[in-house]
Amino acid sequence: KKTSSETSFQFFDNQMQELSIKHLHLDKELRRAIQNQEWELFYQPKMDIATQAVVGVEALIRWRHPSKGLLAPFEFIDFAEQRGLIVAMGEWVIRTACQQLKQWEEMGFMNRKIAVNLSAVQLKQDDFVEKVLAIIAEYQIAPRQLELEVTETTLMNNFQAALTALKRLSSRGIAISIDDFGTGYSSLSYLKNLPVNSLKIDRSFIIDICQDENDQKIVKMLINIAHSMNMTVIAEGVETQSQFHILAEYGCDEIQGYLLSKPVPAEEIVKMFSKGTGK
Ligand code: C2E
Ligand code: CA
Ligand code: CA
Ligand code: CA
Repeated sequence: KKTSSETSFQFFDNQMQELSIKHLHLDKELRRAIQNQEWELFYQPKMDIATQAVVGVEALIRWRHPSKGLLAPFEFIDFAEQRGLIVAMGEWVIRTACQQLKQWEEMGFMNRKIAVNLSAVQLKQDDFVEKVLAIIAEYQIAPRQLELEVTETTLMNNFQAALTALKRLSSRGIAISIDDFGTGYSSLSYLKNLPVNSLKIDRSFIIDICQDENDQKIVKMLINIAHSMNMTVIAEGVETQSQFHILAEYGCDEIQGYLLSKPVPAEEIVKMFSKGTGK
């Protein structure tokens, strides 16, 4: 007869086994996906509040899985990071984004910005900076048009390596943006040591901004701090006109969110470029 602790160990064992089989499977599938480039980039527009023009986009990865359909990042990004597979995937993202930007320029949509998300694992690669510089040279992208979005957590993961890489990229003119700003555990003091061009205020501060006075105070303060340090501010997850109006009143520079558009395939963005600015 088994004791209860034996039973629970047995249960735990089974669970672990199930988990590792699942992981083994996902690992295999991700390697195949990298080989076959089963990725697609979706793009979400960023609008300048003052001119109401679509000034840029954020590239967001999707996995076109052969049997499961289109998968969102939460289904595979963490795992790809743990296995180091994010390095190859991330390079594909930067290359594809730059290629797309070039294509838009050839269509007459000039000076748009393209933002890509970086993982801590990428920033730690010794050759990361060289790779980025080689890609923008290959597609003749002006460095200012490429924006790298890094979270506070990504920065703190290996601050020295991140600082060195970001300084080099920034000195070449590439724009750096702090993503999900306000949600990390880090203090504001790190900002003064980093070459940051813009702060991206996390959606969690925007959701209730119309009702919640604390959110209003925090967002106002973040905008003031950013501006005093010569950074621009973008609010993410803007879904309503009322949120947009409050942010405009506070002097926020740009917005991104479902109010404008969900992330969409490249063809859809072209329509917004032409509508937004009349080319
Ligand atoms: P993120 O960088 O914070 O991207 C914003 C996420 O919020 C996107 O989810 C976007 O679809 C969603 N979103 C945008 N506007 C709204 C809105 O108004 N309301 C709501 N409820 N959601 C909105 P998505 O595309 O599923 O991406 C999730 C996360 O996956 C991203 O968060 C980013 O951290 C990561 N990710 C996406 N693409 C890449 C990539 O190429 N590389 C890396 N390392 N991470 C990526
Ligand atoms: Ca982002
Ligand atoms: Ca974000
Ligand atoms: Ca966020």
